[in-house]
Amino acid sequence: MKITLLDESIREFDKPLSVKEIAGQIATSLKKITIGALINNQQKVASDFIVEQDCKIELITTKDSKESLLDFFVSTTAAAITAYSLVQNFPDIKIAEEFYNQDEYEFSTTFLDKETIKRDRLPFIQNKLDELTNQRLVIQNKKITVSSDLNLNTYQLHLANKAISERGYAILTTINKENFIFSEPVCVEEKLVKKIKLLDLSGSYWLNDASNVMLQRLHGLAGVSLDQLEKKQLILEERRLSDHRSINKQLEIFHFDQLIGQGLPIWLPNGVALKEQIKTYLKEKEWEYDYVPIETPVIGTLDLYRISGHLSHYNEDMFQPFKAGNEEFILKPMSCPHHIAVYRQKQRSYRELPLRYSEHALQHRYESSGSLTGLERVRAMELTDSHIFVRPDQIESEFKSIYRLIEEVLKTFKIKIDYLSFSVRDPEDKEKYFQDDQMWNKAEAELEKVLKDLNLNYKKMVGEAAFYGPKLDIQAKTAQSHEITIATIQLDFLLPQKFDLTYVDDNGGLSRPIMIHRGLIGTYERFIATLLEQTKGNLPLWLAPIQIEIIPVGDEESEKYAKRIQKNLKTDYIRTHLDNRDERLSYKIRDAQIHKIPYQLVLGKKEISDNTITYRKYNSEEQITVSCDEFYLLINQEIKEKM
Ligand SMILES: [Zn+2]
Repeated sequence: MKITLLDESIREFDKPLSVKEIAGQIATSLKKITIGALINNQQKVASDFIVEQDCKIELITTKDSKESLLDFFVSTTAAAITAYSLVQNFPDIKIAEEFYNQDEYEFSTTFLDKETIKRDRLPFIQNKLDELTNQRLVIQNKKITVSSDLNLNTYQLHLANKAISERGYAILTTINKENFIFSEPVCVEEKLVKKIKLLDLSGSYWLNDASNVMLQRLHGLAGVSLDQLEKKQLILEERRLSDHRSINKQLEIFHFDQLIGQGLPIWLPNGVALKEQIKTYLKEKEWEYDYVPIETPVIGTLDLYRISGHLSHYNEDMFQPFKAGNEEFILKPMSCPHHIAVYRQKQRSYRELPLRYSEHALQHRYESSGSLTGLERVRAMELTDSHIFVRPDQIESEFKSIYRLIEEVLKTFKIKIDYLSFSVRDPEDKEKYFQDDQMWNKAEAELEKVLKDLNLNYKKMVGEAAFYGPKLDIQAKTAQSHEITIATIQLDFLLPQKFDLTYVDDNGGLSRPIMIHRGLIGTYERFIATLLEQTKGNLPLWLAPIQIEIIPVGDEESEKYAKRIQKNLKTDYIRTHLDNRDERLSYKIRDAQIHKIPYQLVLGKKEISDNTITYRKYNSEEQITVSCDEFYLLINQEIKEKM
């Protein structure tokens, strides 16, 4: 058989060999550190896996392999060791399946015991695992083609049969004479897993199907060293702290109430303050770029979405229709057809184009309840939406102008971009995309030309386009490593056709406009989630819901003085909070720090007599005293500059 190695060199062997033996044929030193392999860029196997056919092999070693690959093997092996430990300590237990979540570094093992294992047993299981990781375990893998004679439990039998039917064999893993079927490879190298740290016990349906039995699921982290494990824990903790849901606990931006409904956010006073600031700024920018604000209803008839094609392409993401009188409605999942209605309201002329309608529009989408995540994924959302109608000769300049607007806005908010995604159709997918090759080729070519002109780095994604046209998405990452779209520009040749949109061209004939869908910062919900995560809740002064905390110290005089300062700041529309509770100064300062308020004023006898203000900034120990006028100037300047 011929084995192609990572450097494209080819080795020939006259009989089947294990991965480790192949490594040994290359170099003895390599054999020692090889723990598995990646076959044909796809299948991960352990080092005792017998290779029988021509293939491409990437050896996985403890030394120079990608951290993600090494981590995969350490975690799947830890899951296997955990399963073995459970069997040793709970005689009636039935091991089901093991999992590995790369984003969370987490492995888990599902099982069923006669009696539910309670959380308070975790320390016991942890102890037993610690003992095991210090012992010598004999682990072996063997290909099997028949599962009936192995005395496996129902779950393991199911996994074995599934593997046999899918690829002709299953891997039987034996740990100290105990048999298991795991869906991922288990390393046989001694002491690869140095430390396992259990995290939690939860429930999980067998095969993720709610009609099946509920199993228990044990979660954990594993490391090749204690150091590596601690590093993982640190990253996870950091991530937890920068999750917008934990930041929200301090900032009180939004709230969900089960009685109102899942995924329907309530904006609390601080949230509205933040949202309004963002909105005012965006509306100013849209004014500058010649957008025309419009407002359209939150529902539309079924016919509207039938013509637009959303009903057939988007049905699963919409709330079900409802009847009222003779009409049938749906909650609008997007505003495109509504904006088309505004365009169609009268005959347009070529002189009117581009026509840029913008609406910060409330819309509803029926996201599955399992996917709802704080503000990141919701069922009611306000989109910074726009539809621009252009002549063919205006596509290029308009696209550039939209991109500049988005770039400028994201820069103001200092949003960190992950990458740009240029999505084109998959010509093979005849079901998703409307069939008009000429139209598609033209649209994709025009968009790509603009991207090249703008000198942008982008990833080209085949098959990711919307059903009506190609698009550019500006992508970011959440604290939980979810990829999200912040802004989008989408070309659309289809909807103008479906709704028979026209304009009178310069020859007096009728021509068809092209529509561009633009999301400026996406939805307020997702954008604010991102903003909170990227700033860790330390919002700049112009955005902070409470900009200044005013703390009087001492008697009634200072409270009177504080109120006067507060009144003066209010005339400049500055958002303040007066802390006149009967608490110690240090307590109040700490409280303002917890709520991440940018400025704290401390006002006492000295300030009253000198007509001054003493302030300190968030996260700083330094106290600065200035005259009141100086302070007002300083604050207003910082807000104006959106620093
Ligand atoms: Zn649209």
